[in-house]
Amino acid sequence: MLSSPRFNDFTAYLAAIERFTDEELIPAEPRLETEDCVPEEITQRMRELGLFGISIPEEYGGLACTQEEQVLLTIAFTRASAVFRSRFSTTIGLTSQAILDFATEAQKREWLPRMASGEVTGAFALTEPEAGTDAGGLKTTAVRDGGHYVLNGMKRYITNAPEADLFLVMARTEAGSTGSRGVSAFLVKAGTPGIEPLPAPPLLGLRGSHSTEIRIQNCRVPAENLVGGVEGRGLNAALRGINSARTHVAATCVGQAIRLIAEAVAHARKRQQFGQPIGEFQLVQGMLAEMQADMLAAKALVLDVARAFDRAVESGTPLPFPDIAAAKYFGSEMVCRVADRAVQIMGGAGYIEDNAITRMYRDVRLFRLFEGTSQIQQQQIAKAMLRTG
Ligand SMILES: Cc1cc2nc3c(=O)[nH]c(=O)nc-3n(C[C@H](O)[C@H](O)[C@H](O)COP(=O)(O)OP(=O)(O)OC[C@H]3O[C@@H](n4cnc5c(N)ncnc54)[C@H](O)[C@@H]3O)c2cc1C
Repeated sequence: MLSSPRFNDFTAYLAAIERFTDEELIPAEPRLETEDCVPEEITQRMRELGLFGISIPEEYGGLACTQEEQVLLTIAFTRASAVFRSRFSTTIGLTSQAILDFATEAQKREWLPRMASGEVTGAFALTEPEAGTDAGGLKTTAVRDGGHYVLNGMKRYITNAPEADLFLVMARTEAGSTGSRGVSAFLVKAGTPGIEPLPAPPLLGLRGSHSTEIRIQNCRVPAENLVGGVEGRGLNAALRGINSARTHVAATCVGQAIRLIAEAVAHARKRQQFGQPIGEFQLVQGMLAEMQADMLAAKALVLDVARAFDRAVESGTPLPFPDIAAAKYFGSEMVCRVADRAVQIMGGAGYIEDNAITRMYRDVRLFRLFEGTSQIQQQQIAKAMLRTG
């Protein structure tokens, strides 16, 4: 349970995050697109509330939430635009988790407290132009040169690259190696000569969040920035972060679905056709009922998986990878079905007007693509079934 001096009661903390979502995040949604960023005062509030540190242990200044608690919090704050979450998601699920599990004690002490406080934003740099799903195909190199490594390569689609203070860069340290062998992880401070995020391209959704290319050219990184001080463990470190992040994405899908349903219900109550609210029509009720049942199933699944995740961490046994994949797969497909029905209930306004449902319809499409596409989740689930069945 949460025992931070600031938030020593999880129920009260969750209630505070629910209030923050309703009173500050949701009203600020229109600013995300017009200002093309999460406004700094909102980011500052997220720092004060500890959101950058929910997954980081107390000894490093975090709130030490269990995975189940992280899921409950994520469901709460992702009733607001997922752009707010994206501002700290690369710090909590991806970057800090890899550091926590694979870095040296000195590296943890250097970075985790500042990540937990939100002073440092982490970005997770794995994907490359020719290495997407096939992350083991990455070509960025890191060549040892005395007390440094010299990094060269190109990363793409890196969330928070323009905001980042620290990049976790996966690069090949063993010349001629292929696949996951010979890949190492490096901590690269933003501003180090030779690492440069390129201008952010416009996205289909999540406007206000930035996922950009990073050019890495003769970037000299001190050898002590090799994560864990050991070469060859880069993809393992990346995968640890990704599995935590997949659980968070599954929870995000539930939060977004809850909001979509609330917006659709409000519209179904208000919009009149044939002299009555459209919510009185049984076919509209059928859509609402399907949306709700879909969301509840995804919520039950992700909470169940989060509890299994916590049990695995506690007992030192392997994480429930296939179940994590199932929660991410089902959640991301679910929220796209829910968004589609929400647009249907809105009628033409769901297509023409700018409202929360049209925004979210664009936003949620991402969840079937990143942190492993739906096809990759399906593969992991089925492979595990075939192995054990
Ligand atoms: C907005 C956004 C933010 C992102 N943020 C980050 C980030 O912060 N850090 C980072 O490192 N990456 C990030 N990514 C990258 C993301 O993880 C990749 O886009 C994703 O892994 C898919 O890779 P790809 O886009 O190259 O697609 P591809 O790998 O080219 O896949 C294309 C299609 O082929 C299918 N496919 C590929 N291989 C197989 C297979 N073996 N079997 C069946 N089907 C297959 C896929 O499912 C997909 O349908 C982000 C992406 C987006 C869109």
